[in-house]
Amino acid sequence: MKVVVVGAGVAGLAAAHFLAARGCEVVVLEASERIGGKLRRASVADVMVDVGAEAMLARRADGIDLARDLGLPIVHPTKATSRLWVDGALRPMPPSLMGAPMDLDALEASGVLSPAGMAQARAEANLAAVHRVGEDCTVGDLIDRRFGPEVTDRLVEPLLGGVYAGRAREISARAAVPQLAALYDRGPLTPQLAAIPRGSDLPVFAGIEGGMGLLPERLAAGLDVRTEEPVLGTGYAHDRLLVELVHGVEVTDGLILATPAHVAAQIIAGCAGGSLADTFRVIDHASVAVVTHAVRLEDWPLGHDVSGFLVPPDQHRRIKASTFSFAKWDWVRAAGEARGVLLLRTSIGRARDSQALDFTDTELIAQSLADLRDAVGLTARPVDSHVQRWPLGLPQYALRHRRQVEVIREAVAQVPGLAVAGAAYDGVGIPAVIASSRRAADELLASS
Ligand SMILES: Cc1cc2nc3c(=O)[nH]c(=O)nc-3n(C[C@H](O)[C@H](O)[C@H](O)COP(=O)(O)OP(=O)(O)OC[C@H]3O[C@@H](n4cnc5c(N)ncnc54)[C@H](O)[C@@H]3O)c2cc1C
Repeated sequence: MKVVVVGAGVAGLAAAHFLAARGCEVVVLEASERIGGKLRRASVADVMVDVGAEAMLARRADGIDLARDLGLPIVHPTKATSRLWVDGALRPMPPSLMGAPMDLDALEASGVLSPAGMAQARAEANLAAVHRVGEDCTVGDLIDRRFGPEVTDRLVEPLLGGVYAGRAREISARAAVPQLAALYDRGPLTPQLAAIPRGSDLPVFAGIEGGMGLLPERLAAGLDVRTEEPVLGTGYAHDRLLVELVHGVEVTDGLILATPAHVAAQIIAGCAGGSLADTFRVIDHASVAVVTHAVRLEDWPLGHDVSGFLVPPDQHRRIKASTFSFAKWDWVRAAGEARGVLLLRTSIGRARDSQALDFTDTELIAQSLADLRDAVGLTARPVDSHVQRWPLGLPQYALRHRRQVEVIREAVAQVPGLAVAGAAYDGVGIPAVIASSRRAADELLASS
């Protein structure tokens, strides 16, 4: 069976890898000049570091298993902990389930909420459970009703901002926090959240020594990948799928679209009709930028026990997060120290903040450094800085996202030989994306 995979991000490359392992003839077509999509490494002060995704959930095996199969060394973050930058201070991150507080005493001690906000959070345990999530509600609605808006603004927003670059009052509870949605339907959250076991020694996150960007590099090494080969459209002739290229047409038995949803919408119209294309277009995207700095060892004002901080949007800062990569990953610290520097990054941009990427690189670097100066007291100029823009980089899982994905999958299933994979559907995290690739490969093989 011949299969064309469109897009050489981790979704497309993983799907191609699974199909090739099962005897298919696979070609991956990538529009840009490079593979990897949002998994990308770049040199900052001569140290290769991730400038896109830099970690993956460890509790879901899909990512770790694939990396291990490829012989890549799995590592886990250090014990350094993250902070919240609120009211001018870096405060301890209270334990939470995507911002829903699991320990109200720790929340109070962190100083993240005002006394009034704290009183409202404490009242949750005694609130009657009159609402249900039903088909869906936003994460913000759910938390606002139970714990009050300060918990949404100061805890949920920064955490959702980190994963989706999204807004709590727009993101689907069923899609983004299904575990929390299920607890909500059962009654008051405070006792249920407090009862979730904590302090397990099992690491929550994993990475790859040398960077997550090694994953697509290693996947592509065993595959036929053609870069600078954008797919423009699709069609049918004599019961075979046609893939329209800039110069010519590729004929194939199977086709996996592993591009962002808005691109899939354009490509798919020829073989599945305009109404399916419109369903894909419903999925919105947020644009973000990652600004990475290399600072001299002697210029760093903090210790190594803090791995970074998140910034709630109500603090009106330009950056939404900073990761002190040298404190989070031993391999980054060692690689940087060998060159006398420490590597850290900041991220900028949330859903509907279209302005974020309008600034020049010099301006983004200046904004990033201004916030770092105010947050941690870093005043020295970095040795090197790098700006990576991710226009439309993160799909937004809005209300009823899961239903939209069902509609897309039902319609795609009507087109023989077609499957979809990627961050737009069942989760934006790398393990969820890889699971979507395995599913797409299974669907194609089952239908052949
Ligand atoms: C800044 C940032 C940080 C992140 N951090 C993390 C993290 O730490 N952990 C985590 O789990 N997740 C993280 N994510 C999310 C995760 O990286 C992505 O969800 C995932 O990498 C998406 O993979 P994908 O293959 O679906 O899409 P993409 O990586 O977008 O790949 C799609 C590919 O399709 C190509 N393409 C587009 N149009 C065409 C066309 N017409 N023809 C051919 N090819 C085309 C694109 O050029 C691209 O290479 C992060 C995302 C961003 C933006």
